[in-house]
Amino acid sequence: MAITDIKIVRDYIRMCSDGWEQGWHERNGGNLTYRMRPEEVEACRPFFTGPGAWTEMGVTGASLAGEYFLTTGSGKYFRNVALNPEHNIGIVEINGRGDAWRIVWGLADGAKPTSEFPSHYMNHCVRAAATNGAYRVIYHAHPANLIAMTYVLPLTARDFTRALWQSATECPVVFPGGVGVVPWMVPGGADIAMATSELMKEFDAAVWAHHGLFCSGPDFDTTFGLMHTIEKAAQIWVLAQSAGQGRLRQTIEDDNLRAIAKEFGVTLNEKFLG
Ligand SMILES: [Zn+2]
Repeated sequence: MAITDIKIVRDYIRMCSDGWEQGWHERNGGNLTYRMRPEEVEACRPFFTGPGAWTEMGVTGASLAGEYFLTTGSGKYFRNVALNPEHNIGIVEINGRGDAWRIVWGLADGAKPTSEFPSHYMNHCVRAAATNGAYRVIYHAHPANLIAMTYVLPLTARDFTRALWQSATECPVVFPGGVGVVPWMVPGGADIAMATSELMKEFDAAVWAHHGLFCSGPDFDTTFGLMHTIEKAAQIWVLAQSAGQGRLRQTIEDDNLRAIAKEFGVTLNEKFLG
């Protein structure tokens, strides 16, 4: 028995491999965190090593103080996670004030959690509060077609949501609330963490201009599926714009979007219609 035999760790590693296979994680691009359930922490605890030192995050989120997170490592490659989990991912504990982490398993030989951990942590706080604790996954990747869209469309939630909803019929069902957009910012710091978490109060996904996408969800399937659906829609948008040289003969109209929502029992964010 190893920690990698525990289902939640195995599923986490599988999601890293799936993202790599999609081509969303060149070099050390992207990061994934998961807020563990108490029973998952207990299942992993026999494998915990002596805790490391507390490291301040630069942000504070008291609501998730004391919780444990699976996280990818700073500078680590998704491509390598499945081959060598102990050196590429880890489990961190958050302190009682909600402003520092320490490593309790993995990230061996001096590795650290992803440089986006403060962003992830603040987004976990916001999404957990918005969903009564249901949301546990924050996932950041570099899907190429969506990034390409950020060079062409105005950087507004309305422009991106409408373009994506119109690009595939499943989109309004998968993200009826739409997507938020963060203007270009320096990654890795408290500023982009705060800007993203502000959007995450409303949206399950936030586009980072010229950089990538942040997605949140209750589990790995839903969160990976959201990233996958948005990037697939972005690919269709890019293909249609390219093939039509910027002119579309027809699209999914607002009344079509409303009809989809009615049929599938979801509530579209009305401010993006009409
Ligand atoms: Zn990134």
